[in-house]
Amino acid sequence: MASFDVIVIGAGPGGYVCAIRCAQLGLKTAVVEARETLGGTCLNVGCIPSKALLNATHHLHEVHENFEKMGLMGAAPTVDWAKMQAYKQDVVNGNTKGIEFLFKKNKITWLKGFGSIPEAGKVKVGDEVHEAKSIVIATGSEPASLPGVTVDEKTVVTSTGALALEAIPETMVVIGAGVIGLEMGSVYARLGAKVTVVEYLDAILPGMDGEVVKSFHKILAKQGLSFVMGAAVEAVTVEGGKAKVGYKLKKDGKAATIEADAVLVATGRRPFTEGLGLEALGVEMLPRGMVKIDGHFQTTVPGVYAIGDCVPGPMLAHKAEDEGMAVAEVLAGKHGHVNYGVIPGVVYTTPEVASVGVTEEMLKEQGRAYKVGKFPFMGNARAKAVFQAEGFVKLLADKETDRILGCHIIGPGAGDLIHEVCVAMEFGASAQDLALTCHAHPTYSEAVREAALACGDGAIHA
Ligand code: FAD
Repeated sequence: MASFDVIVIGAGPGGYVCAIRCAQLGLKTAVVEARETLGGTCLNVGCIPSKALLNATHHLHEVHENFEKMGLMGAAPTVDWAKMQAYKQDVVNGNTKGIEFLFKKNKITWLKGFGSIPEAGKVKVGDEVHEAKSIVIATGSEPASLPGVTVDEKTVVTSTGALALEAIPETMVVIGAGVIGLEMGSVYARLGAKVTVVEYLDAILPGMDGEVVKSFHKILAKQGLSFVMGAAVEAVTVEGGKAKVGYKLKKDGKAATIEADAVLVATGRRPFTEGLGLEALGVEMLPRGMVKIDGHFQTTVPGVYAIGDCVPGPMLAHKAEDEGMAVAEVLAGKHGHVNYGVIPGVVYTTPEVASVGVTEEMLKEQGRAYKVGKFPFMGNARAKAVFQAEGFVKLLADKETDRILGCHIIGPGAGDLIHEVCVAMEFGASAQDLALTCHAHPTYSEAVREAALACGDGAIHA
């Protein structure tokens, strides 16, 4: 038995960041991880491998779409799927090994195996029981299942299987038009698959700004993705390696079937908290296996904390990381804090989609007086030069005070552009503060400034 100040269960972005910050603050720290590698869902089967495939297929798309326009002639490259998979795995390995290095550097003990909490202050890993003054649950999430659909991770896959299909399918059905479904759907569409997205709701990307969603839907359709909206999938059957997806349209109850070589079930994720012994421990749970916490990330059992995908809030790696740092500060007697009003969300397709703060729909619902500053990338010289002038920046500000309330971007580099607005919001800035900040020319970021100008006397290039 070993004793620690803190034992973190789970080495995803929530857990590993928490452990590093705990160690930096002088706490003797261990992390329990059941996987063979560190980094959790994000590094192993989530953010990182999906971005590697998005990167490779983006370049392929560029070659076919834009190279000739720039006078770059010659045969387009063909796809070696095995090599692309190896590239993806190299990226994953480099990142997971990087966390191992950081653990060694910060003298964090990795307790390999599945952890449970037999009682407050104790963590069991295999046959060993370790002591800890504080325990942080960071066990993340797993793909949610869909009634009538059996996942075999070969023909009918979750995102994990979709990252490693044996071959590029000729036809693919994606069930669910959320971030993961659209990112992976884009990957396979760019690789030549005929992709059909079947979504229960009437719009893609639920919760995102309505104008952005409409524009993004059109752009994806132009890129070759087909959509069946307002359709409830009832069953998926597999015969001879081919799948049949049966669905019913909500508006008229009409039933239909689509055949596909692969089906990606991307209907969301649910917290993974099984096997920890939380019920016996007396930890109060929320629906779907989510852990209830207070404002300091503490569960209803003193000394047991929880962060990341297994607690309420957006299931995002950076939200988990921020909570990891904040809970470490709390455990070290400091003031950990996460500003949930300023957590960006990004879709890493081409073009990218990014969002922070409230949407126009939310403002209308709140009855709050607001202004909209909008600027199209068509007026941005840099975006035009790289054939990425689709999309716009939409900035929302309070009508009276001009304080920035939200921003929604569809366009090149949106996932990076959003951060100047995040910083501005953290500092309580007004749209005019952004508008008066000099932005380098020619950059995509000028579109953000122009949207801020549009909240005042008007954009220059619109
Ligand atoms: P996880 O990363 O899920 O890590 C939890 C870890 O705990 C796992 O390694 C698990 O093995 C371990 N564990 C669980 N129970 C135990 C136990 N009892 N004992 C020991 N170990 C245990 N988010 C973004 O912000 N940006 C993106 O671009 C993005 N892309 C994504 C793409 C895909 C395909 C997927 C699936 C997810 C993506 N996400 C993205 C979401 C992101 O991966 C999660 O929000 C993030 O990983 C949550 O971090 P976490 O630390 O809470 O949990």
